[in-house]
Amino acid sequence: MIRVNENYKKLKSSYLFADIAGKVATFQKENPETDIIRLGIGDVTRALPSACVRAFHAGVDEMADDKSFRGYGPEQGYDFLREAIAQKDFQARGAEVSADEIFVSDGAKCDTGNFQELFAEDVIVAIPDPVYPVYLDTNIMAGRTGEFNDGRYDGIVYMECTRENNFLPSFPDGPCDLIYLCFPNNPTGTTITKAELAKWVGYARENKALILFDAAYEAFIRDDSLPRSIYEIEGAREVAVEFRSFSKTAGFTGTRCAYTVVPKECMIFDKDGEKISLHGLWNRRHSTKFNGVSYPVQRAAEAVYSEEGAIQTRALVSYYLKNADLIRNTMDTMGFDFVGGDNSPYIWVDGNGRDSWEFFDMLLTKTGVVCTPGAGFGKCGRNYIRISAFNSRENVEAAMERIKGALG
Ligand code: PLP
Repeated sequence: MIRVNENYKKLKSSYLFADIAGKVATFQKENPETDIIRLGIGDVTRALPSACVRAFHAGVDEMADDKSFRGYGPEQGYDFLREAIAQKDFQARGAEVSADEIFVSDGAKCDTGNFQELFAEDVIVAIPDPVYPVYLDTNIMAGRTGEFNDGRYDGIVYMECTRENNFLPSFPDGPCDLIYLCFPNNPTGTTITKAELAKWVGYARENKALILFDAAYEAFIRDDSLPRSIYEIEGAREVAVEFRSFSKTAGFTGTRCAYTVVPKECMIFDKDGEKISLHGLWNRRHSTKFNGVSYPVQRAAEAVYSEEGAIQTRALVSYYLKNADLIRNTMDTMGFDFVGGDNSPYIWVDGNGRDSWEFFDMLLTKTGVVCTPGAGFGKCGRNYIRISAFNSRENVEAAMERIKGALG
């Protein structure tokens, strides 16, 4: 008898964005004349930078000729891309990362979701609340949680991010083995200083723990004093893995390219306390279960690091940051308390005691603007909404005018 992985039965039945889509569809059916503006799901809306498109085309042309055609590539990514990443994203900023520590993949979602496979079923996992749901759900699937009680899974250490702690994850009371951090943060849009991040590196070193650092929104950091990589912190190479993505940096959500950094110094332990190289383990896992990102896509990603590509991707991110600024100004004018949106595409708005789904419904029905209810990201989000800056300037301006008109 073929039996189910019982852990899957513990997952919450419906996915946040499916619930939102259902509500929006119902509203649209009842109000066909309303032009809905979506500031909910974190997907980019603008075209790929032209430097990337040109490189993408050239890559396809190479595939069209027997002489330059390529079949399977290296599972870890082509050297041309790994070297550009190591040099431009890390070494140029004083962070020590070499090309062979980079694993190119088709998404930070898969990588942040898959990485937990390398660890024992009984490691203690610490997850921020609110959180990008992938970290939690993949640990549920792997059997690291008990039952769901009062909005929380038994067995998980929740690190609360609240107004009181400036939305920085609270340190776990006891020792933890696997710690998920995400900065700039989804959903709160907050960032972390070098001094605060150094405390986490210190905690991981003291507790022989590992940090999974998700830097998918690194390109939105404009404050030069903030760390763009955890490897800017001394001692992080022994205790941290970093995830990056071209999705939000260069509009690759539909093109798919990302990468994970696993430093060679990073060690984990077997049941006898013997050290095992995490780099070796991830290499084994990645090359067994993954067959590489397509060649033209890797060429398109490489173009992000060209002179022209760097200017274009910065302009792309600046466009969304300007949207974020408009949203921040509106929230400010209307007296809402919020964080994020300055080095991040997300603005986390306090509903002032209002339930997040109620806030979502009110915005939708009064203005036709779609946001994301904070409850979908965890218990600490139940009185917040997330507004995303990923849309056209015209739509963001129109959405803000509607909000001012209806709620002002
Ligand atoms: N990590 C975070 C924090 C995200 O918000 C997202 C996407 O929204 C991802 C990872 C996924 O990135 P990718 O498109 O590379 O799979």
